[in-house]
Amino acid sequence: MSPQAHSPFGGSVAARVLRCPGSVDLISKVPPELHKSSDYADRGTSMHMAMAALIAEDVHVPVESLAGKKFGDYTITHDDIENFLRPAYSFVEKLLDVPGAAYYLDQRVIFPAIANTFGTLDLLIRIDHTVHVIDFKFGVGVRVLALTPDGDDDVLNSQLLFYGAAARHSLPEFFTGIEDIVLTILQPVTTDADSEMVSTVTVTHAELDEFIAAYRVACAEALSEAPRLKAGPWCRFCSARPICKEHTKPLLDLAAFTVPAPWSTTRAFFGTPTAKEEYLKVLAAGLELADAVKDTCTALHDQAKRALENGDNVPGYALSNGRAERYWRDEITAQVALLSLGFEHDDLVEVEVMRSVKQIELRAKARGLKIPPELIISRRSGVSLKRSENVRVPVLGRDELARAFSEALAVFTEEARQ
Ligand code: SF4
Repeated sequence: MSPQAHSPFGGSVAARVLRCPGSVDLISKVPPELHKSSDYADRGTSMHMAMAALIAEDVHVPVESLAGKKFGDYTITHDDIENFLRPAYSFVEKLLDVPGAAYYLDQRVIFPAIANTFGTLDLLIRIDHTVHVIDFKFGVGVRVLALTPDGDDDVLNSQLLFYGAAARHSLPEFFTGIEDIVLTILQPVTTDADSEMVSTVTVTHAELDEFIAAYRVACAEALSEAPRLKAGPWCRFCSARPICKEHTKPLLDLAAFTVPAPWSTTRAFFGTPTAKEEYLKVLAAGLELADAVKDTCTALHDQAKRALENGDNVPGYALSNGRAERYWRDEITAQVALLSLGFEHDDLVEVEVMRSVKQIELRAKARGLKIPPELIISRRSGVSLKRSENVRVPVLGRDELARAFSEALAVFTEEARQ
């Protein structure tokens, strides 16, 4: 990644533009300084810079030497080294150490046939007749794959296809004699503990050509009079979300939200299974609307907060300071002074706390170690309301419990009869 200006059709937005060409015009209405950015993005940018620094060094430098160093607005921590940089760098190092390997790092590349369309790819490595297009992902919230299963189809990662096509166009000599183009996402950590760090797929020149043709059509639509708006997972990082009618229309639906029948007029209402089912459906529809509205609220809130932080005026809103928290000015000095006043060591320092299973799993993954499963137990913290498809361990309702019991009873009595 680089600080240079972004292209409206650049690699990082290719997946969105392909599926929602209308987003390009809508995003142009959002002041640039309010486009998505967060502490987390600062951290990701810093990690990219640290990786680039490691790769660019002529001599191998120990990865841990970067701990405490500041890249951009963020200082690299020991956890960042162990969980992200060490595993990612050791994968890259093996490729770069192959005799004859050549590479481009943080290379700006121009996409063919669409004006003002460029991007900066993280790493391009050539080994014999193969080119590796590598993209580092240091975010943890969303797992990114080079090839995503989608029903009967597998969807190739648009950002990697973009960089592959743009690199081939911009660096023709580097691609001379190339037979295989290997697209790779390197994502050391995600919230899914079982995910692999490396996601890779090999594509042909013909597949890059197909992508170029499809992307040209999407970009032409984006510039047309009435481009399509289509919501989907690609909305997650779209800065037009607070003003997009695909997301604001649930506000209107919520205003028109009504309960279907005046149940208080008849005491027998809940005695009618159909009527009760209808009411429960209304609850579900209301929850869906509330979720959609909540997402829109979050998007509005984030952008208004960013505007206020930038010193802009959002009429009727202001930033308020949080509760003051007190800290030791210098922990060592404070400990020495307090001990001399008669405090015991245990008065000042809490017992050491073991890291969580998740934290140690991340370290195990980075070091190729395996945690014996018998060391871990799991406990559920309680019951919460979730969409059915997001429920891992369902808690059965009374109907389901009754059904499960009657099924078990039927099997039992059948067996007893035999
Ligand atoms: S929020 Fe989603 S639907 Fe709306 S413009 Fe952005 S990508 Fe398109």
